[in-house]
Amino acid sequence: MECLTDETSNKLTVFRGKSHLTLLHVSGTTLSKVTILDSFYAQYRVQSGAVPRLRDDMDSPPERLLQAIWQHQRLLRERLQTLDGRPVRVLHPGFHNLEGGPDFRSAVVQLGDDSPKTGDVEVDLRANGWHVHGHDRNPAFANVLLHVIWEGENLVAGAPPLMLLRPVLDAPLGELSLWLGGEAAQGFPEELRGRCCAPLRRLSNPKLVDLLHQAAAVRLRSKGAQFQARARQVGWEQSLWEGLFRALGYKHNVWPMQRLAELRAVWNHAPGEFDTRQLLLQARLLGLSGLLPAELPRGSSGTNSYLRQVWDQWWREQDALADKILPRAVWRLHGIRPANHPHRRLALAAAWSDGASLAGKIQAWCSRELADAHLAASLLETLEVEQDPFWSWHWTLQSAAFKNPMPLLGETRLTDIAINVVLPWLWIRVAEGKNEKMQQQIEHRYFTWPAAQDNSVLRLARQRLLGGASPRLLPGAAAQQGLLQLVRDFCDHSNSVCDACKLPPLVAEFSKAEFSSALAERQAVAPL
Ligand code: SF4
Repeated sequence: MECLTDETSNKLTVFRGKSHLTLLHVSGTTLSKVTILDSFYAQYRVQSGAVPRLRDDMDSPPERLLQAIWQHQRLLRERLQTLDGRPVRVLHPGFHNLEGGPDFRSAVVQLGDDSPKTGDVEVDLRANGWHVHGHDRNPAFANVLLHVIWEGENLVAGAPPLMLLRPVLDAPLGELSLWLGGEAAQGFPEELRGRCCAPLRRLSNPKLVDLLHQAAAVRLRSKGAQFQARARQVGWEQSLWEGLFRALGYKHNVWPMQRLAELRAVWNHAPGEFDTRQLLLQARLLGLSGLLPAELPRGSSGTNSYLRQVWDQWWREQDALADKILPRAVWRLHGIRPANHPHRRLALAAAWSDGASLAGKIQAWCSRELADAHLAASLLETLEVEQDPFWSWHWTLQSAAFKNPMPLLGETRLTDIAINVVLPWLWIRVAEGKNEKMQQQIEHRYFTWPAAQDNSVLRLARQRLLGGASPRLLPGAAAQQGLLQLVRDFCDHSNSVCDACKLPPLVAEFSKAEFSSALAERQAVAPL
C-alpha cells in the first residue's frame, strides 16, 4: 500500500494494487481563515442553540462529535500517533457502525512499521472507557485495532493501542462543533463511496431496478436451495419450522432459535384445552431455552403470577429434558430492542405450534387468489395468533405491562418472514413439483412484496453503492434484497477500498445489455 499527497489539491491518495482512496488532506498550517458566523442566519442557528458551539477548553465534547471527527478525518493526519509514540496512518477510517459493537468497522490502519491491518476502531472520551463500558469482556470488540480517545495519559493493560484526538484536530473545537451541526458532517463522506457508486448511479432507474431484481432472484433461488437441502434431511415441514425459528431469532439469536426448532419433537405435543396447551408449550420453550430466571421473584404482580405458572409446568419436565437445555451464554440479549427479545418470540412460536398445521395454512395462502395490495395483509391474517393473557402485554418476562395489548407478530417481522422463509420455501417446493405456473405466481409475489423497514445494513449499502440514494429508490422488498445480495457477493469479498472488486466492470457490461425481459415477464404475471 502506498500513499501520495497532492499539495495543490490538499488530497491524500492511498493506493493498493489498482485501487485507491482519496481523502481530504489538511496540513498543520492554516490555509485560509473561513468565518462561519458571517450572516444573520449563521449567527441565529448558534445563538438559538439549534447548533451547539463548544468551547475549545471543553473537557468532554459529545462522543458523536468525536465520531464525526474520526469518520471525516478532521485531523492533522500526518501527525497521528499512538500514545506509545508509533506513527498512525489511517488508510481508511472504516464504516460507522450504528448497531452494537465498535464505532467503526473495517478500518484500514498502519501502526509504525507494521503492515496495514483491517479491523475496527472504537471512539471514547477516555481510555478507561475500554473497561468501564465492558469492551474488554465483549467479544464484539475483539477485532478493535485502535482505541481513539479524546484525551488521557494512561495506557490500559490488555486494551488496543490508544490514540489521542485532542492534540491533532484540524480546527478549533468550537469550529468543529459548528461543522457537526451542518450537513457535511451528517452525511456519508463522498470519499468513502464505493467504486461501483458512479457506474450504478449512471444506470437509469428501471435498469438499476432490473439489476437489483436479478440479484434478488439469485437470493430467492439460493434460499430455496437451502430449504431443499435441509428438507432432504428432515422433511419439508421441519425445514419450514427451522426457517421460521431462525427468522424469529433475527438477527443475533438465529442459532439458539434453530436449535429449539431442531428439538421440536421434544416440546411440540401438548394435551388439554387451548390455554393449558399454550402455557405448557411456552413453559417448555422458555425452559429449554435456558432463559427462565432460576428463582421465582417475590410479590404478586402479573409477571410473578405468570412466572409461577410457567415454573409449575416446567419443574415437572425439567429433569427429563435437562440434557437439552441451552446454556444462557448462547443467547445475545445485550443491546437488542425489546421487540426482538427471544422471550416474546418464543411465545409466538408456541402459538404457531398449536392447532392446525402451519405448513398447511401457508400452502393454502399460496393457492389463494390475492390482489397485490392485499398480499401482506393476507399473510398476516394467516400467521397472526390469538391474544395471549401475558405476552400480548409484555416484551419480556421482566418488563412492565403495556397500556394496550400489542400483536405478537408485527409488520416488520412479517416481511422478513415472507421474503426469507415463506416465499423461498414455497418456491422450491413447487419448483420440485415442476408446477411452473405456481412458481411464477410465487415469484410475482416476491417481486411485488412491499419494501421492508429500513435498517443499518441497507442504509450503509445505499450510501456506499448508491451514493446516499433515498429508500424510495428501492421500490419493494425484492430491490432491497437485491442490494443486500450485491453487498454479499461483492463487498464481502473485497475491502473498504474496493480492492479488485468485480462489480464496477459488471455494471459497465450490464449497462450495455438489453433489459432483462424474461425476468420482467415473470414479475408481471397476473395473480391467479
Ligand atoms: S467493494 Fe465493490 S460492491 Fe462494495 S462498494 Fe466497493 S466497488 Fe461497490
